[in-house]
Amino acid sequence: MIPPIADRFVAGESPATALEHVRRLNEQNVKGIVNLLGEHYEDRDAVAADVAEYRHLVTDIAGSGLEACISVKPSQLGLDLGEDVFRAELATIVDTAVEHGVFVWIDMEDHTTTDATLEAFETVAREHGGSVGVCMQANLRRTRADIKRLADVPGKVRFVKGAYDPPADVAYTDSTRVDQEYRTLLEYAFERYDGGIAVGSHDPAMIEHARALHDRHGTDFEIQMLMGVREDAQYDLAEEYEVWQYVPYGDRWLSYFYRRVAERKANLRFALRAVLSG
Ligand code: FAD
Repeated sequence: MIPPIADRFVAGESPATALEHVRRLNEQNVKGIVNLLGEHYEDRDAVAADVAEYRHLVTDIAGSGLEACISVKPSQLGLDLGEDVFRAELATIVDTAVEHGVFVWIDMEDHTTTDATLEAFETVAREHGGSVGVCMQANLRRTRADIKRLADVPGKVRFVKGAYDPPADVAYTDSTRVDQEYRTLLEYAFERYDGGIAVGSHDPAMIEHARALHDRHGTDFEIQMLMGVREDAQYDLAEEYEVWQYVPYGDRWLSYFYRRVAERKANLRFALRAVLSG
């Protein structure tokens, strides 16, 4: 069972609980991005188990009629064991997902993984057209160049501020500067991209900027937020825009939970209240 300290952010331990959560979201017109928690595997068996579960999950999603897709982490698919392992496992999942009409997102992890992640994305996206998306982090100095370089690759891009803590030589560390960069990246994408833009942020200012850019350029976009964060806003926005909620499940919740707590004091207060009342 997911302990009360984490269950605001995690849908449950099994795929069935995650899909049940997505079913409730769909009733509110919000779609689900299902993520099996797991990262930094150092043995092939753990990678193989998650790949097998993702392949079951896409068939379950396809059979359920739910509005849902999946999101995978490179180090969950074996990146720590080698780029070749990651690329092969990603291809296996994407092949199955494409066969069942389920979209695949690739999460972005810390800055040492960016090259391998973008290269693997480019390969599967070129092979499978628009069925794959990748996350790009506004706090990395390189991202402006990356979005220009990948502008003609089919698929979607999820823009986030960045959940990791990269060093100053590769990243902007001041939050105002990161916000400014996020806005600049959106401006570039709304002006040049032919849709496929996902605004992965809870920040009302970033969402407002995206809405204004959409009004100016007419470019399609979707809003993505995390389970347990500003859910009322998600339901409200879904009346006007396409909104997706990232729905993690599984028993390996600790690293994910730490990132949520690290990015906002209110999340820490919420977690402490859950401990004290539980
Ligand atoms: P912040 O800068 O954290 O907050 C700005 C403002 O947003 C706040 O001042 C407040 O007004 C509002 N806000 C934020 N949180 C709350 C809250 N809990 N309650 C009320 N208001 C709030 N990062 C990665 O590095 N790689 C990934 O692959 C990745 N995938 C993601 C997928 C999705 C769908 C989302 C939503 C985020 C993802 N992230 C990922 C995390 C992201 O990088 C940020 O760490 C995280 O979203 C926090 O930044 P923010 O833009 O939401 O706003």
